[in-house]
Amino acid sequence: MYEPDHVKTSPDFPIPETMRAWVLGDPDQLTLTKKPVPVPKRAEVLVRIDAVAICATDLEIIHHGPPASILGGMPFNKNFTPGHEYMGTVVALGQGVDEYRIGQRVTVEIHAGCGQCKRCREGMYTACHNYGLNYGDVDKGHRANGFTTDGGFAEYAINNINTLVPISDEMSDEEATLVVTAGTAMYGLTELGGLVAGESVVVTGPGPIGLLGVAVAKALGASPVILTGTRDNRLQIGKELGADYVINAKKEDPVEAVRKLNGGKGVDYVVECSGAPEAVNEAARMVNRGGRICLAAFPGKPAEVDIAHIVRNNIYVYGIRGEGKSATHRAEAFMAQKRFDATKVHTHTFALDDLPTALKYARERIEDAIKVVVKTHGHAALSRVAAE
Ligand SMILES: [Zn+2]
Ligand SMILES: [Zn+2]
Repeated sequence: MYEPDHVKTSPDFPIPETMRAWVLGDPDQLTLTKKPVPVPKRAEVLVRIDAVAICATDLEIIHHGPPASILGGMPFNKNFTPGHEYMGTVVALGQGVDEYRIGQRVTVEIHAGCGQCKRCREGMYTACHNYGLNYGDVDKGHRANGFTTDGGFAEYAINNINTLVPISDEMSDEEATLVVTAGTAMYGLTELGGLVAGESVVVTGPGPIGLLGVAVAKALGASPVILTGTRDNRLQIGKELGADYVINAKKEDPVEAVRKLNGGKGVDYVVECSGAPEAVNEAARMVNRGGRICLAAFPGKPAEVDIAHIVRNNIYVYGIRGEGKSATHRAEAFMAQKRFDATKVHTHTFALDDLPTALKYARERIEDAIKVVVKTHGHAALSRVAAE
């Protein structure tokens, strides 16, 4: 029986001693193994994972390694479990935890900053200066599940209480896995960008963050909200999530089209989610003078940028890492209020045992997969179910 000292459990949620967990071996090699169920410490809880979504960053980590960092290095062959966009049920409380109760449904943020560096003190814990310093003598208290500590491709995970987001009872498990993605878009637009109602926004690239970026921008009162991309079916989902205009970059010049829609002057914000090599230069010509570009994706190789244009036009360019300043809570509030239907980006569901197939669907965009979700708990016999 799982009965560690100083940990509160409940007979309503019996916890086994071992759990099923996928472990990363060499690059692209995942094995389903048994691990001991981890034990929450002070200010931590044990989450029974009910569902986990696959992110492009998971594919990066499994194939290349970074931005995961385990024991100060690459994540391969270190008994590491990836996966970070999970939700579930609180089933055990570490010492001193009274903020959450056993049985409560939560979704999770990824980053628990060290709490003592300059950025953590500013609330920018996703940019913690002690990122990855969480082992042995250099343990600074930093945690990033699925990046620097064990993540969600398993039955249970430990979370610091600061990374928990309570979810509404009406929200499905699948929808709850999307809160952190919407929270990332929220962080880029409001906390980092300073967006206020009535400002104009272009989102380039209709992937999960781009599509939910459209939804969040619209819910925040941005106007107009414009989405650019190359696939009409994705642009159509963008429309359903709140885009006032969509531009297919294969059919018209997106820079010209954006400027035409905004009196020739361009927009206040571009959220760049395509990672195309020319994207920064195009974004710089889509924003107006003094406008802002949020970079949420990147090309595989360094790209050439027309810096003179950025300088002469007082354009702000900033990268975004994760979902700081509790932006995830604000995203969950929008979703609980049904301000947009995030489930429009959820396309496929698999069981935990079928993770390799789920990853293949996400990587190769089989059947135009956008967000692929793995159901972890109570659905062991579930095979693939396409979202309605
Ligand atoms: Zn992610
Ligand atoms: Zn820190």
